[in-house]
Amino acid sequence: MVKEENLMEKIVSLCKRRGFVFPGSEIYGGLSGFFDYGHYGLALKENVKRLWWKQFVLDREDMFGMDAAILMRQEVWQASGHAEGFSDPLVECEKCKHRFRADQLDSSRLNLKDPKKVQPLPARLQPDKVILAGNDSSRSGGCPDCGGKLSEARQFNMMFKTHVGAEESDTAVSYLRPETAQGMFANFKNTVDSLHPKLPFGLAQIGKAFRNEIAPRDFLFRTREFEQMEIEYFVRPPKVASRTHVDGTQTNAEQEEWERHFEEFRSETVKFFESVGLPKEDVHELEVPDGERAHYSKRTIDFEFDFPFGRKELSGLAYRTDFDLSAHQKNSGVPFEYLDEELKTKFIPHVIEPSFGVDRLLLAVLSSAYTEDEMNGEKRTFLKLSPKIAPVKVAVFPLLKNKPELVKKAREVYDSLRSTLHATGYTIAWDDNGNIGKRYRRQDEIGSPFCITVDFDSLEKDDVTVRDRDTGKQERVQISELQGYLKKHGNF
Ligand code: ATP
Repeated sequence: MVKEENLMEKIVSLCKRRGFVFPGSEIYGGLSGFFDYGHYGLALKENVKRLWWKQFVLDREDMFGMDAAILMRQEVWQASGHAEGFSDPLVECEKCKHRFRADQLDSSRLNLKDPKKVQPLPARLQPDKVILAGNDSSRSGGCPDCGGKLSEARQFNMMFKTHVGAEESDTAVSYLRPETAQGMFANFKNTVDSLHPKLPFGLAQIGKAFRNEIAPRDFLFRTREFEQMEIEYFVRPPKVASRTHVDGTQTNAEQEEWERHFEEFRSETVKFFESVGLPKEDVHELEVPDGERAHYSKRTIDFEFDFPFGRKELSGLAYRTDFDLSAHQKNSGVPFEYLDEELKTKFIPHVIEPSFGVDRLLLAVLSSAYTEDEMNGEKRTFLKLSPKIAPVKVAVFPLLKNKPELVKKAREVYDSLRSTLHATGYTIAWDDNGNIGKRYRRQDEIGSPFCITVDFDSLEKDDVTVRDRDTGKQERVQISELQGYLKKHGNF
């Protein structure tokens, strides 16, 4: 798919114009890296989250949901390594105020009292998190953009810090969580003790995460407040899972166990992206090589998407081993061992983690759905959203809003559809604002797959016109057959 140059601007503009997403704190000039979801953006987001929850939690027997608090004791982030390592070495130009990652600059540019302060980045931090300095080694000394003096390098931790309670002491320090994952690790024992699940099983959570990104950019792609959908899937560790057969041969079942589940989540991820309507050819898998993975990961696949600004990470799938559970056991003194009744042994389970960013996924969905074409000699813009996630499934119009008999009939259609569609979580809209052409344009931009119009013929024939968003074609359908028609054509 050829991505247009100004596609991002068009998406951002449509999102604001049609009540999907607004810039955060806009009336005071905006707050970089924060966005507010309006009525339709929220509906789209909820639909995507619902699909995810259905596929990964409700449709399975081995998955349990949870919703952890955003603030946790600082010990959680010490054990996980975030307090120490979730940081970038940052330098700032005193003149143009541009910021750079110090370890990407030629050391001759840096104003270092202690060169040891520029430490290599943890693997989990990707290079595009910051404004990179480029490869300009011809100019030494100072900022690559304007030659200004660079500040001394400092480690910049991306966690938002706060204090719990009235005292601002060190012991009251807490952080807005930078990932939802730790809430699930911290509750592993509670889950085992209360639900008694058998391995393998998973904990799933959808919730907000916060990262004080140095350079938030590309609309919903890199923000400072975002939502994640994460699973921690617990499996038997390698050594425990391997078995010796009666004939003395060994099966390396340990590998099979985590690899089997890794492969399963890999294909489930592909299936999920298909179900929200991402074109297959725009989703790619990147096997993250040795040396570039996070310190806790033995295998990682990044699912990448062809965004309008290039191919970038959309979601991740990692084999986290027992890194987190062991770290929490060590740091808290609470035993995290699982008693495997079948194998009659205790161990700390290993973990497979599929991790999705909701907002980033919405941007992928919006950028692949955004379409411009010509209809009846006029240019039009529409969102070709899958009916499964479209914020409005069906819009109902009376042809004229000042004809009571049309309004009455349209209301009857609307009310009867509403009760069934809303029961299944789908939204139906009433629209009588402006002429029909305007209403079609509005619903096209919202991505509503069907528009139903009640006209004068409807009063006599008990039928309506149903217009298809993608083709613009209109069909007359008996009111009594509407439900079946929408089910068949809308796939919902
Ligand atoms: P990136 O390298 O793009 O910063 P990451 O590898 O740090 O991402 P993870 O820690 O693996 O990201 O987080 C899992 C998912 O959360 C990502 O795949 C992405 O979808 C989402 N995510 C991470 N950071 C952000 C952000 N700043 N804004 C929006 N979504 C994010």
